[in-house]
Amino acid sequence: MIGLADCNNFFVSCERTINKDLEGRAVVVMSNNDGCAIARSNEAKALGIKMGQPMFEIRHLVNSGQLVALSSNYALYHEISNVVHKIFHKYAPTVIDYSVDEAFFDLTGIPVEALDEIGANICNECLSEAGIPVTVGFSHTKTLAKIASEIGKKSKRRVVTLVDPVEINDILSRTPINDVWGIGRRTARKLYFEGIHTAKNYIDCDIHHIKHLTGINGVKTHNELRMIPCIDLDACNRPIQNSISESRTFSRDISDYEIIKTRLTTYTTHCATRLRNMNSQCSSVIVYLATNRFHTNESQQFPSIEIRLNQPSGSTSLLVEAMIQGLDKIFDPAIAYKKAGIVLANISPIRATTPSLFDPIEDNTVDSNHQLMQAIDEINHSSSGGVLRLASQMGLGKIGESSALSSSFQFRSKK
Ligand SMILES: [Mg+2]
Repeated sequence: MIGLADCNNFFVSCERTINKDLEGRAVVVMSNNDGCAIARSNEAKALGIKMGQPMFEIRHLVNSGQLVALSSNYALYHEISNVVHKIFHKYAPTVIDYSVDEAFFDLTGIPVEALDEIGANICNECLSEAGIPVTVGFSHTKTLAKIASEIGKKSKRRVVTLVDPVEINDILSRTPINDVWGIGRRTARKLYFEGIHTAKNYIDCDIHHIKHLTGINGVKTHNELRMIPCIDLDACNRPIQNSISESRTFSRDISDYEIIKTRLTTYTTHCATRLRNMNSQCSSVIVYLATNRFHTNESQQFPSIEIRLNQPSGSTSLLVEAMIQGLDKIFDPAIAYKKAGIVLANISPIRATTPSLFDPIEDNTVDSNHQLMQAIDEINHSSSGGVLRLASQMGLGKIGESSALSSSFQFRSKK
């Protein structure tokens, strides 16, 4: 058996964990520049809001108070995604993190009677530990498990198990072909003209004809819908996020800027080293802070900011500089924080990027910076404990404060 756990309205559910007032309300999360809706609560779906609907079409609902539109907070989603995926991994020896809010479980050998309880446990734990509602679908193949979880979401059942072939056939006859996992919009249109409107029509169609219409992937889907596992778990095991992150929960609440900056510098330094070990660079630095989530009497704060670099970089000093720039924008001295974290996002292999025509070419060119970082990595690697550190990592924050750039190359020896 295969299981699929999928978080419900993930981004909206994440927002609700830090703002309980959003519960029961129509909420959408907007794309990067607040251009269009990328996540909708059930209430927002009920208002007829479509995925990807542009802001100008829904602004009247926001203005009249019927709808809450939020800017996306990727640091928060990333953070909660990690918690949820950690929970998923407890429930099967083979778990494939398929996306930021979904994972497949290989439950080979688990008796069907045990599935309901496993599913319920996953849902309960995600809700109590991460505050995220989850739907779990079980069936013979990944494609059918997907269908099972979709049925669960539509019918508000937390766990749906599709085992009986007669029941599966019946459900496939009610599943529009464009709702099937792996059937893209273009393929669905092509199939529609062939008179294939439902998943049942699809499996009733001759396999050679399917191959002719949809290629080898369509054949795999055809098999999967007929309960023959075809899509390899490993084949879907792609990195779910093109990011590296580090965060810590402090032993106490901290409101001291210097302490937080020093810690974030350390996390950024670690992430930058991992980035360079992957022979990669990144083009976004996300910084976030969080207040203590166990202080339920106060409203929680989860400020985050994404700093986009002019050009991708793997240089510790440039990344730390961006981090400090972000921290300065979100840090509020009146608030005590329990957690701080950094995410290096939009990772690409070194030299795969084309410099932008409009961006200033910095003096410390990619190459010289890269060589400097390599030298530092080698020194730190050969002498345990990292002898070369950024000044701001050692709490010598004042040096860099007047100009973040001036702190860039102030490496100091521990000795
Ligand atoms: Mg989901």
